[in-house]
Amino acid sequence: MAPIIDLRSDTVTRPTPEMRRAMAMAEVGDDVFGDDPTVIALEERAAELLGKEAGLFVPSGTMGNLVAQLAHLGRGQETIAGREHHIVLDEAAGHAVVAGTSIRQLAERPDGTLDLDELRGAFRDPLDEHHPETGLVAMENTHAHSMGQPITPAYTARVAAIAHEHGVPLHVDGARLWNAAVALEISGRDLAASADSVTFCLSKGLACPIGSVLVGSRELIRRARRGRKLVGGGMRQVGVLAAAGLVALQDGADGMIERLAEDHANARRLAEALADLDGIESAGGIAQPEPGRLDPDRVRTNFVLFRVARDRAAFLEALRARGVLMIDYSHGQVRAVTHHGIEASDVDRVIAATAAALHETATRRIAEATPA
Ligand SMILES: *Cc1c(COP(=O)(O)O)cnc(C)c1O
Repeated sequence: MAPIIDLRSDTVTRPTPEMRRAMAMAEVGDDVFGDDPTVIALEERAAELLGKEAGLFVPSGTMGNLVAQLAHLGRGQETIAGREHHIVLDEAAGHAVVAGTSIRQLAERPDGTLDLDELRGAFRDPLDEHHPETGLVAMENTHAHSMGQPITPAYTARVAAIAHEHGVPLHVDGARLWNAAVALEISGRDLAASADSVTFCLSKGLACPIGSVLVGSRELIRRARRGRKLVGGGMRQVGVLAAAGLVALQDGADGMIERLAEDHANARRLAEALADLDGIESAGGIAQPEPGRLDPDRVRTNFVLFRVARDRAAFLEALRARGVLMIDYSHGQVRAVTHHGIEASDVDRVIAATAAALHETATRRIAEATPA
């Protein structure tokens, strides 16, 4: 039987042989005492790549966003964010439970951005004692629910300028920031320039087993380090894990950033083929609000979102039976994510399996609808 092709997420990527070697050989210390040289090297490398003073290695993107919120906000303050952002939907309300803050949610547009007039109107009146104080603006790049749209540095600069006019910092949840940088053909440094803090995941398309890095000013990272301790994220000989991150962040073809372009090309080719299949429909939601055919031009990075004119669970099961894993997503969507380890030949197999699964579930639906 051919190996499973797992497109549920780019988090399923496994460490490369070079990462495993680096992990085995990593020089380590006790990072809570601040003397793990491999962790220090990773934090410095991430900060340098994104043009910030300092970095903090954390176990997950969720913890990176949480400690950023702990560092930026006081209890009772409020963040302005898109209502389909990961920090709103997918982080177990850590902002409320741990940081004691609220999120004022604005609707995103199909390109993953907010209307800037709405953003301006969302800041609270700091003199009105009825209101929470606005303490942070958060963005997501790439923006997952819009089908992984890369958000431009020009837009980021406009959001930052509005936030800063109100004396509020900008945090970018850049779980897939490097996908955005590669898609826009710019440096991470240019993409992060106007943000006060940025998190990115090592554990997704960069193929590391675990970890994210938060970058920002030295003072912000000092506060975030305290927040990391508070939530139990102070780790010890963790250079073993940071070593994989250093491999991923190497320049050029040695590292894992440049090759994200292959994932984008594979996603695009997959979407082009799926769009022609009978039973595949527009993604809906904010990813592609207009009904009709799936639009492959919406695929700018490694996400393909679509809907099926079938029972979705039956379709996913029929795909699984053919060795292909995709996952259900919001707004009745199916999500397929390309990543390291998925080759062009795998995309061909996925297209064939999808066509067969659509065919099987269509027949089954007709059979079920026919009275016995
Ligand atoms: C994956 C992800 C995160 C963090 O995820 P972890 O699984 O906690 O590492 C944060 N934001 C976005 C947009 C993500 O996709």
